[in-house]
This record gives sequence, C-alpha cells and structure tokens, in this order.
Amino acid sequence: MTIQWFPGHMTRARRQIQEKLKLIDMAIELLDARVPLSSRNPMIDEILMNKPRLVLLNKSDLADPEATKAWIAYFAEQGLRALPIDAVGGNPVKEIMNRSKELLADKIEAQIRKGMNPRAIRALIVGIPNVGKSTLINRMAGRKIAATGDRPGVTKGQQWIKVGTEMELLDTPGILWPKFEDQQVGLRLAATGAIKEEILHPEEIAFFAVRYMAVHYADALQERYGVEELPQDTEDANAIVEVMEAIGRKRGAIVSGGRVDLEKASLLILRELRAGKLGRISLELPE
Ligand code: GDP
Repeated sequence: MTIQWFPGHMTRARRQIQEKLKLIDMAIELLDARVPLSSRNPMIDEILMNKPRLVLLNKSDLADPEATKAWIAYFAEQGLRALPIDAVGGNPVKEIMNRSKELLADKIEAQIRKGMNPRAIRALIVGIPNVGKSTLINRMAGRKIAATGDRPGVTKGQQWIKVGTEMELLDTPGILWPKFEDQQVGLRLAATGAIKEEILHPEEIAFFAVRYMAVHYADALQERYGVEELPQDTEDANAIVEVMEAIGRKRGAIVSGGRVDLEKASLLILRELRAGKLGRISLELPE
C-alpha cells in the first residue's frame, strides 16, 4: 500500500503519535534491518521527544548479519538499544518484553519500592509503511488484530492489546513518513519493496541494487546468476547495465529480435532480491 504523503498528512501523523505519548511508557521504533536509516523517519527524535525507546531492526532474516551487527553498534553509540527481529518467522516477543523491562527498570523498581504492583508496560509501535508494524502487532497479540486504516489521518477507538500480563500495546501503530527528499533513500526503500515501483522505474531501482551488490555482494550475484565478469569499475554505468543484460539473457528476459527486456530483467532481479533469493543482503551501512 502506498501512501501519498503531503505536508498536511505529515502534520496529522505526527500529532496523532504525540497525542498518544501521554498514554504510553515507551515507544517501539520499527526499522527495516536492510536499510535502517533510510527506513527511519527524519523527525523521529522530535516526534517521540524523550520517551524511552526500543529500536527493532525488523526483517533481519533478509538482512546481512554483519551489517546488522554494525547497525547495532551504530545505535548503541547514540544511546539506543537496537534488537534485530524477524516478525514473521522468528520468536521476537519474549526478547522484546525483556528489553522493554530493562529499558523501564528504574520506573518499575520505583513502583515496587512504593509497595505497588508494577503495572503492565504500555507501548506504541511506530514506523514507516511496510516495515512490519501490523505483522509485529499480530505476533505480540498472539492473534490477528483487525487491520486498521493504514493511512495517515484514519483513526478509530483506542484499544489496548495484552501481551502476556506485563505489557499492553496500542492496537493502532503510529505511521511515519520516510525521508524521501534524498534520492538514495528512495532507491533503497524501493529496492526493499517499501515504496512501489510506480514512483521510480524498475530499471532505475534494479540498477541501484545491482551496482550496490556488485560492490558489496559480488559473490551473491555470481552465485545466483552465474554472471562471469563483474565490472572492475562499479562507477561505470554501462558496465552495470551490461550485468543487468547478462542476467536478463540468462533468465530469458528477451524481446523479439533477441534484445534483452531490461524492464523484465529488472523486475526479476528486484523480486528475487526482496524474496531473499540472493541471500541475506543489506543495502545500507553506517557511515
Ligand atoms: P506495516 O505496513 O508496517 O504494517 O507492514 P506489514 O506488517 O503489513 O508488513 C509488510 C510486509 O512485510 C508483509 O508482506 C509482511 O509479511 C512482511 N514482513 C513483516 N515482517 C517481516 C520480517 O521480519 N521478515 C520478512 N521476511 N518479512 C516481513
């Protein structure tokens, strides 16, 4: 689902999250492990103010474990604990609970000192579209929560979802906009599938992905597509297009006359990349 973000939507999305801040003890910021910074809202610190925050690097099953390690160190330097998760195939709930309790340990201890029973931790999941918010909410709820309007500005009555006895989650996640003014960010998000192809051309997205892989994951490209010669100079655009054409030829993406159908080849590369067919690949590294 693609959201058309306009300034009015952004303001409303931001206000909706900020209205919920007073209801919650902490925020769970969901990022895409393959492109953590590109999938991050540019104003997130301002929006969440000083709420305790747990960063989750979702879709870590598709991300390069080495890159994910580097990202965890990156967030640690900023005083944020980041936890890689797989909301679909993994079992993230217990670890999220434990990390959340650690995050709020002072608050919980203060309640105990006063002789109170610590009440359930209240949390809100926030993130850009497609990062896995609904999937994670369903996992934490242990059942399918009715899909809510995944559009900025669409609200319904507030519901708390129990996660065991120690946590409660707002059933509607906070939907944030990515930092799309930056073209590289747009390409990374498009390559992972967070942004639909109608906005950028598949050839452009696949070109970006193939170039990135030629630099960082040459073995994966070679293994999957048997491309014999990868370019020495990955800055050479023609050489990258030749790799795309070689892949198209190998995979039968040919138009009459024997020319490679570059759009078809691009769609194939992107589909396979997103499905993890090329292995675990991250498309962004910390500076
Ligand atoms: P939302 O827009 O943030 O609510 O995102 P969704 O929960 O609808 O997820 C978007 C897509 O990502 C769906 O196709 C999910 O199945 C997929 N997805 C979510 N989490 C993961 C994950 O950890 N790993 C993988 N491989 N796919 C995931």
